Amino acid sequence: MKEPDYDLLVVGGGLAGLAVAQLVARSGWRVLVLEKGHYPHHKVCGEYLSEEVRPFLLQLGVPLSQWQLPVIRRLEVSNHAGRVYSFPLALGGFGLSRFLLDDALAQQARLAGAVVKEGEMVLEVVQEDGAMVAVTRSGKFTARLAVGSWGKRGQPDVAGQRRFIAQRPNVLNQFIAVKHHFELAEVPDDLIRLDNFQDGYAGLSRVENGVVCCCYLSRASNLRKAGGNIGRMEREILQQNPRLKEVFTSARPLYERPLSISQVSFSEKEQSLNGMLLLGDTAGLIAPLCGNGMSMALRAAWLAAPLLLDRLEERMSQVQMLAEYQKRWKDNFSVRLKTGRVIQAMFGSEWPTAGLLGILGSSPRLAQWVIKQTHGQPFGG
Ligand SMILES: Cc1cc2nc3c(=O)[nH]c(=O)nc-3n(C[C@H](O)[C@H](O)[C@H](O)COP(=O)(O)OP(=O)(O)OC[C@H]3O[C@@H](n4cnc5c(N)ncnc54)[C@H](O)[C@@H]3O)c2cc1C
Repeated sequence: MKEPDYDLLVVGGGLAGLAVAQLVARSGWRVLVLEKGHYPHHKVCGEYLSEEVRPFLLQLGVPLSQWQLPVIRRLEVSNHAGRVYSFPLALGGFGLSRFLLDDALAQQARLAGAVVKEGEMVLEVVQEDGAMVAVTRSGKFTARLAVGSWGKRGQPDVAGQRRFIAQRPNVLNQFIAVKHHFELAEVPDDLIRLDNFQDGYAGLSRVENGVVCCCYLSRASNLRKAGGNIGRMEREILQQNPRLKEVFTSARPLYERPLSISQVSFSEKEQSLNGMLLLGDTAGLIAPLCGNGMSMALRAAWLAAPLLLDRLEERMSQVQMLAEYQKRWKDNFSVRLKTGRVIQAMFGSEWPTAGLLGILGSSPRLAQWVIKQTHGQPFGG
C-alpha cells in the first residue's frame, strides 16, 4: 500500500474544519484542508457568537481584542405585529463577521502547519486500500484519517446518500436564508433582535465597524409566493412586521445583492460517514434562532481533536474513535438540538409565535431556562 500523502484530511474549511485542522497540525501531523471557496468571503450567518466560544477562539489565536467587537447582552423578540418582548442574555455574546473570522482561522491553521487549499470542491470521500481519499475536479488527495466539515449540505452528502438528502418536505426542511450587511442607526451595540414574520424570522445585531448584520430564515414557500424575487418577498412578507418595515426602509445596504442559500434542513443527521467523523453543521444544524451554531461547530472540533490525535498515535482503534466521538457529541449537543427543533417548529405561524412569546414574556424564569437549554458553558483556553 502506498503511504497516504497526509495524516488528516479536512473536507471543508469553515469554522469546525479550520479549528480541528489547527489543533491536529499543532502536534506535528500533516494536515490538508480542502475548501471550495477563497478567503476572505462573506457567508450566510447571523454573526452573533455566544460567549461560550471566546476562550477557544483566543486559544486558536483569533485576535478578538484587535477588532473592538460589540458585546451583546440583551435580546428583543417581536411577534408578527411588531410587539416587542425583552430578555436579558445571562451569558451573552459578541458580533463578528464571517469575513474576518474564517479568514483569521485559515491564517492560524496555516501558521500551525496545515496545508489549506482553496478553490478545491470535494465531490466525494471514499476508502481505498486503508486510506481516505478525497476526489476533487483537480485530482485525488489521500490521508490516514478524514473529517467532514462541509457545512449544511454539500456534494459529499449527495455522494454518500445521506438520509436527510432523500427526505420529503416537512416542518424541519425546505428553508431558505438571506443575509444583508446594513448601515443602520437604530440597533444598539448591546442588542440582538429577532423579528418574526409569516413563516420566518430575522436576526439583527452589530458586527465590527458598526455594521449591522441582518440575516433571516424563511420557508421556501415565501420566496415562491414572491415569484422568486427576494426584494419583493421582503416588501410583501417581511415588512408586514412594522419593525422590519422600518429596517428595510431606512437601512443602506452594503452588499450589491444579498447573499442567499436554499435547502436548509434541521433534520437529524449522522455523526460519521464512510469512516469520517462529521463536525459542525455536517453532523447537525441547530435552528438559527438559538444563535448558537457557530459555537457548536467550534466545540465539535474541540471534542474531536484529542480523539483524532489518539487515533493517529494508535492509542485508539478506528471503531473506538468513532464510538467515543458519537458519545461526546450526543452528551454535548442532543438536548440543544432537540430544544432547537421544538422552538423552530413553533415559530413562524402567527398565533403559536404570539402565544409562545406571551408565555415567555410573562415568565422571565421560563425564558431564561429555554435560553439555557440551547447554550453550553465556555470551553477551551
Ligand atoms: C440563517 C442562519 C443564521 C445563522 N445565524 C447564526 C448566528 O447568529 N450565530 C451562530 O452561532 N450560528 C448561526 N448560524 C449557524 C452557523 O452559521 C453554522 O452553524 C456554522 O457556520 C457552522 O460551521 P461549520 O464549520 O459547520 O460550517 P461552515 O461554516 O458552513 O463551513 C463549511 C465550509 O465547507 C466548505 N464546503 C462546502 N462544501 C464543500 C465541498 N464539497 N468541498 C470543499 N469545501 C466545501 C464551505 O465553502 C465552507 O467554507 C446561522 C445559520 C443560518 C442558516
